[in-house]
Amino acid sequence: QSLDRVFNFAAGPATLPENMLKKAESELYNWRGSGMSVMEMSHRGKEFLSIIQKAESDLRALLNIPEEYAVLFLQGGATSQFAAIPLNLCKRDDPVDYVVTGSWGDKAFKEAQKFCKPSVIWSGKSEKYTKIPSFDGLEQNPDAKYLHICANETIHGVEFKDYPTPKNNDRLLIADMSSNFCSKPVDVSKFGLIYAGAQKNVGPSGVTIVIVRKDLIGNAQEITPIMFDYKIHVENNSLYNTPPCYGIYMCGLVFEDLLAQGGLKEVEKKNIKKAQILYDAIDESNGFYRCPVEKSVRSLMNVPFTLEKSDLEAEFVKEAAKEKMVQLKGHRSVGGMRASIYNAMPLAGVEKLVAFMKDFQARHA
Ligand code: PLP
Repeated sequence: QSLDRVFNFAAGPATLPENMLKKAESELYNWRGSGMSVMEMSHRGKEFLSIIQKAESDLRALLNIPEEYAVLFLQGGATSQFAAIPLNLCKRDDPVDYVVTGSWGDKAFKEAQKFCKPSVIWSGKSEKYTKIPSFDGLEQNPDAKYLHICANETIHGVEFKDYPTPKNNDRLLIADMSSNFCSKPVDVSKFGLIYAGAQKNVGPSGVTIVIVRKDLIGNAQEITPIMFDYKIHVENNSLYNTPPCYGIYMCGLVFEDLLAQGGLKEVEKKNIKKAQILYDAIDESNGFYRCPVEKSVRSLMNVPFTLEKSDLEAEFVKEAAKEKMVQLKGHRSVGGMRASIYNAMPLAGVEKLVAFMKDFQARHA
C-alpha cells in the first residue's frame, strides 16, 4: 500500500481496498463522462440505476445468491434490522429463538423484545463470550418463527464456522453477518435472511445490506414504519426513498474488486492465512499475549488479545500507532487489544503487526 497510508485495524468503519479508493478518487467529480459526481446524481437517473444494478448483480455473483432472494441496499445500520426482522417476520406474540454469542447477538435479542416474544436458547455470557454452542445440545422451540444468530461477534471475536439447522416449523435461520460479510463463501439458501452493515468488509458506513427470501415478505406487523417494511423496499428495488447513493457506489467498487480477486473462495484463503499468522504469534508468545477465544471458533476477522502484563497495553497501542498501525485498542466493554483484519487488510499489515508484537515482547518480557 502507499507509504502515506496507515495499517488501520479498526473494527468498523474499517480499511477499504486502496485500489478502489483510488478509482473512486479518479471519478470523484466526473463519473465516467457524466459530468457529475455520484454524490450529485439523481437516484432515479440512468447513471445511478446502472450503478445500483451492477452492485446488486456483482453481489449476487459473489455470494451465488439464488433467484428466490431479494437483495436490498438500505440505511439505518445493522441495528435497525434488529427491529425490522421481528417486525417483518412475526406477530407481536410469536416466539422466536436467539443464540447469544456476544454483545451484538444480545443487542439483537433485546430489541426483538419490543416486537415479539424472543427467548435466549443459549448464551455464552457466563464464559465471557468465548464459545459457540454445540448444535446438538441446542434446545430450539418448534413454534419459534425463526432462529437468530450473529455469525461473527465483532467485539468478542467468536465466529460460527458452520451453521445450526433450524428446527422451528418454518425452518428459518437468520444471521447478522455484519462483520464477516463477503469474507468467505456462504450457502445463502440455508438462511431465511442475512443482514450486514457495509462498513467492515464491503464499503463505508451508511449502507445496510439485507438478503431475504422473497416468500417471507409481505406480512409485516401493522405498526411497521414504512422505512422498515421489506415489501416496500423490494417493490421499489431499494429506491422507495433516497438511498445512500455514494455508499452503494463504493460497495459496488468493492464487489468488483472481490470478483477480480477470484471470488470469495480466494478471498477466504487470504483471510485464513492472515488470521493464522496472527493467532500463531499470540499462541507462541509463551503467554505474553493471550487470546481468550476457544481455538475452533476464533474469528478470521476480529482478533481480540490481552497482554499478560496488562499495564503495558496502553504502551503497546501507542508504540504501534507510532509505527503506523492504528486502532488496536480493544472495545471499551472488554479492554485489551483487538486487531480487525477484514478483507482489505493487506497481508503486509498483519506481518508488520506480528513483527512489532515480537519486538515489543523482546523489549518488555
Ligand atoms: N452487528 C454486528 C456484528 C456489528 O459488528 C455491528 C457494528 O459494529 C452491528 C451489528 C451494528 O451495526 P450498525 O452500527 O451498522 O448499526
